[in-house]
Amino acid sequence: MEMIADDYDTRAILRPLVFRLHENVPAIVREVLLERGWTEFDKKEQDDADWNLYWRNSPFRMTDHHSIKPWQRLNHYPEAVRITRKDYLARHLKRMKGAYGSALYEFSPVAFIMPNDYVKFITEYSKERQSVGRRPSYWICKPVDLSRGRGILIFQDIKDLVYDCAVIVQKYISNPLLISGYKLDLRLYVCVTSFCPLTIYTYEEGLVRFATEKFDLSSLDNVYAHLTNTSINKYGASYKKYKEGIGRGCKWTFSKFRSYLRIFGVDDVLLWQKINNIVILTLLAVTPLPVASNCFELFGFDILIDDKFKPWLLEVNYNPALCLDCSIDDTVKRKLLHDIVELLNYKQIDAFRQNQVAGIKVEGRRMPWSTAGESATQETPGLLTCRKVAKCASAPSVQPALQAARGSVCKVATPSKKISRAHPRKTLTSQLRERMNMPKIPSQGKAEAKNKQLSGAGRSPHKSAQLSHWFPTPDFYNYEFTTRPYFLSDKDQRPIPRVGDFVLIFPFNEAALQASRDGTDVKSIIKEINKLVSKQLISKKQNTKKRVGYLTSV
Ligand code: ADP
Repeated sequence: MEMIADDYDTRAILRPLVFRLHENVPAIVREVLLERGWTEFDKKEQDDADWNLYWRNSPFRMTDHHSIKPWQRLNHYPEAVRITRKDYLARHLKRMKGAYGSALYEFSPVAFIMPNDYVKFITEYSKERQSVGRRPSYWICKPVDLSRGRGILIFQDIKDLVYDCAVIVQKYISNPLLISGYKLDLRLYVCVTSFCPLTIYTYEEGLVRFATEKFDLSSLDNVYAHLTNTSINKYGASYKKYKEGIGRGCKWTFSKFRSYLRIFGVDDVLLWQKINNIVILTLLAVTPLPVASNCFELFGFDILIDDKFKPWLLEVNYNPALCLDCSIDDTVKRKLLHDIVELLNYKQIDAFRQNQVAGIKVEGRRMPWSTAGESATQETPGLLTCRKVAKCASAPSVQPALQAARGSVCKVATPSKKISRAHPRKTLTSQLRERMNMPKIPSQGKAEAKNKQLSGAGRSPHKSAQLSHWFPTPDFYNYEFTTRPYFLSDKDQRPIPRVGDFVLIFPFNEAALQASRDGTDVKSIIKEINKLVSKQLISKKQNTKKRVGYLTSV
């Protein structure tokens, strides 16, 4: 047996990771994966299962989920669309508000789904009009399944409400936070690596999207003043002009926005805590989703902040735009994609995939992900293949394989066509590192280094009390999966608290973790969130007192 393994080792087969793209996937996804030394799937040359990541814009079939292999990941979760259609989202949030009270679930503007809720809307509208001294609300009407600001209408008088498809009519937030008179909203990236058990990461960097004309309630039909979609504003007359306080274009990074808030003494940590709570509460609203392993969902949460610094959830986007309209897009989205790949936590053995080491016989060995007592012969053919590789992968001579797959080593031995085609692109990756100022350390090491930072001094608004004190015990995640979930760290088999700019926001403590073990115990989780919110409020009061004390003592 050892001889076979040694034999194998001396062959030193280096295989890159393989990505598969469906039609219309944004070019940057391919670019980033190539930069990392991945190679593109070619169905003429490769077996059906000979890939590691399949990225598409539309949902996968359930059979794709059922036939997933341990070395593979899919970029969609089954039924994630439950929160990304505006009417579904409104319905789920309304149900949660009914069940758990509006104190927690008042982050989404009141909405009516048309035509079903027409009578309810009229009732609400008339009630407002009749109450003396109350300024009538503004409303926004949005097609339920369109995006990029298409088909949107803002009105105050019901005679202006016209629609010819399914729409939601939502209360228009008419007191948005303005910077130099311009409206803005946040595009927050959220990655769910599992709905069961629920595991949520938010991305620290993101995009602030500005309207390109000054906010003005007397011109409700001016889309450049009221909508913050880039797809609209890039066609505005002011887009390329220098706008006072904003600059050219229509985007900032979150980093710039945070600096701006701090200059004006705004407690951005609390703001981000509130936003994280919104993300958790929204995703809880769609649980349970079908159990599926080895997939993930990248959502784009659109958050509007009002002039009292209250964040509002406008909508959740499926396939958030990954096109590059400006250099800020490039900076944020490229790094985002790199961090997603890091979050997918590929291991050395994943580079080998199916049947690549056929003929190597390994028996009685435990896989790195197998639970105690599992024997080698109990697993599926896919796992068995991996087990064989795992033995080899554990040998130091195979260590370069993953580095090669990640684009940092160029040692290739086997002269097969597929492998030579897939020669890692060393220079591209190192250029990228330079560009991103990333230290040249192995990816896993990088993640762990960042994890360590987490328990140290905070550098980000995400690093709140909720992240610093909990650590789930091992084994919680093992019970349901045939393979160990990929988002657990090798070191302690716990969800990795931080990967690149992704920060784990759920589970946020041991109780939340327990409550999301066997299915999702929403009630218990809500209880924990209520406790968390109270703590956040107390610390806000203390901070305010401290600040007042400081100011009076100066
Ligand atoms: P789409 O999917 O078409 O982008 P959104 O719901 O994101 O639809 O709305 C588009 C834009 O309209 C938002 O980015 C925001 O600027 C504005 N908007 C949407 N809903 C509201 C609202 N309730 N209050 C204020 N502005 C809103």
